[in-house]
Amino acid sequence: MSAKKKAAAKKKVSKATAKKKVAVKKKTATKKKVVAKTKKRAPAKKATTKKRTVKKAPAHAGANGTLEFEPYKEKRGEEYMNERQEAHFRSILSAWKQELMEEVDRTMHHMRDDASNFPDPNDRATQESEFSLELRTRDRERKLIKKISQTIDRLDDHDYGWCDSCGVEVGIRRLEARPTATLCIDCKTIQEQKEKQMA
Ligand SMILES: [Zn+2]
Repeated sequence: MSAKKKAAAKKKVSKATAKKKVAVKKKTATKKKVVAKTKKRAPAKKATTKKRTVKKAPAHAGANGTLEFEPYKEKRGEEYMNERQEAHFRSILSAWKQELMEEVDRTMHHMRDDASNFPDPNDRATQESEFSLELRTRDRERKLIKKISQTIDRLDDHDYGWCDSCGVEVGIRRLEARPTATLCIDCKTIQEQKEKQMA
């Protein structure tokens, strides 16, 4: 869908769904382990008009490598994807991206440092299979980084958090579990069922 069309669709549904609570299922929450480590991020510049000193720790990596952040607390009647919500998800996405980039860096250094010649063919074979595994991992990480960057672009366009398929709110809890989600839980479920039938 083009950006323009999407924006129009979003506008159309945003009012209708403003009050609609999107049911968020925890299903995917446990699957996604978001890894992140980051320095404190400056909040979005735009938010400075309503300045209030909200002490909130930005997203950061926990000891077990999972992304840690305060779950977003909604105020009653607040608008979906307002500046505060956007800043919340920007912090999560940036921290995640940062961690992945560091991870890619570490992998590259590790491979460079380990690229020694083993005289033993068995050792060499082991090293080669280790490297190919790491290359695949790195490739996956690169794709994920790209996806996160695209998601941050959508945030910049205020186009984040709406279902690409039906236009409803994806929902805060679902987005916290899957920050790059572009479908609401219902559309995602339908998509997965279709995929299962195809397989
Ligand atoms: Zn949907």
